[in-house]
Amino acid sequence: MTKSTANGQRCLYCGATYPLYPPLATGCPACATDNFKSSLEVTYDYPESAAWLPDQPLPGLTRYAPLLPPLVERLSMGEGGTPLVAHPVRELGDAEIYIKDEGRNPTWSHKDRLNLAVSSTALAVEAAGVVAASSGNHGASAAAYASRAGLPAVILTTPRPPAVASFVQAYGQTVVAVPDVETRWTLMERLVEEFDYHPASNQTIPPTNHPFGAENYKTIAYELYLQLGRRVPEAVFVPTGYAELLFGVHKGFRELLHYGLIDRLPRMMACEPAAGAPLKRALELGQPVAYVDTGPSNAYAIAVPVNSYRGVVAVQESDGAALAITDEEMVAAQRQLSRAGMWVELSAAISMAGLLHARELGLGRRGPLVAISTSSGFKDHTVGQTPIPRIDGSWEALLEMLEKKAHHDDA
Ligand SMILES: [Zn+2]
Repeated sequence: MTKSTANGQRCLYCGATYPLYPPLATGCPACATDNFKSSLEVTYDYPESAAWLPDQPLPGLTRYAPLLPPLVERLSMGEGGTPLVAHPVRELGDAEIYIKDEGRNPTWSHKDRLNLAVSSTALAVEAAGVVAASSGNHGASAAAYASRAGLPAVILTTPRPPAVASFVQAYGQTVVAVPDVETRWTLMERLVEEFDYHPASNQTIPPTNHPFGAENYKTIAYELYLQLGRRVPEAVFVPTGYAELLFGVHKGFRELLHYGLIDRLPRMMACEPAAGAPLKRALELGQPVAYVDTGPSNAYAIAVPVNSYRGVVAVQESDGAALAITDEEMVAAQRQLSRAGMWVELSAAISMAGLLHARELGLGRRGPLVAISTSSGFKDHTVGQTPIPRIDGSWEALLEMLEKKAHHDDA
């Protein structure tokens, strides 16, 4: 297999370049100020032809090795290659609509793509372990990939426990709940500095994140292109917190454009919980980052008080937009998807909720619309809390239930 052609890191804001190692997980030192820190991206010695692109979007990200950061093949569990499910919506007429179901990954979320890169990098820099601060999906995925790499991991969660606590703890790593976000970050920083642990999640305000992680999300763009019969979507709707996924998918399409495989970029539609929506605010203000107050949201994993500069780059370069989506809209989209056979996590349904605005955004006539669903519904915060109605086992009792159900569905 062809090896990675990654050759360095570049600041998304000031363009400063750095060697590939060590990954600058706390952002670009050249342009950092008290209020601003920029993320870095990986640069490549891009191959001359697109021969690196396989014909089929099968699982296993190492299939795309030349255009990804260096990956350790034995850590792969067949991430990616997730299905693209057609999802016609009556209200949107004949618009071609698809769900990219990232809930089908090894730990049932998109984070597996990222954590393959992070754990591979932890091995490359001979880190003593991996540390992640996460309220759910990311923590479980980081724990799983660290275990696979034979590295210890510490997962710092919030007091609000992840929906499926046994899931996060299943991989045999240290999982602890800490009182608040600031404490999580302080402990993470000390594990990085004093124990030489590798950071799998963000350590800075504004968020910069691990420079290699988002690169693996490029594979979603490659897969979409192949799955759509070598076409480009008109727009891609993405659940957005720190915008690693948004940026990664955008960069993947940017590379397909570079190779002349597509003739335009899809518009990247960042879907943020209305309880905060800092990226939307930053774009409105024309600033690289914006700080906002966050209200309560059940999509707590992506309700953040400050955006990353990555998100600004993805939206501006692709002529996209940031959409603020309410919890009620997410719940409605989640219900609509489950009625169509797809049970997704509430914060994953935010992309579909955004897509339902396609008509007012003037979208849906120039090509397929894609909503990325990041995770399975079994991680949802209501899991385990919904009782099943009991009946006494008689035919009459069952009939009564059927009537009640029909009545409820009509209402
Ligand atoms: Zn910089």
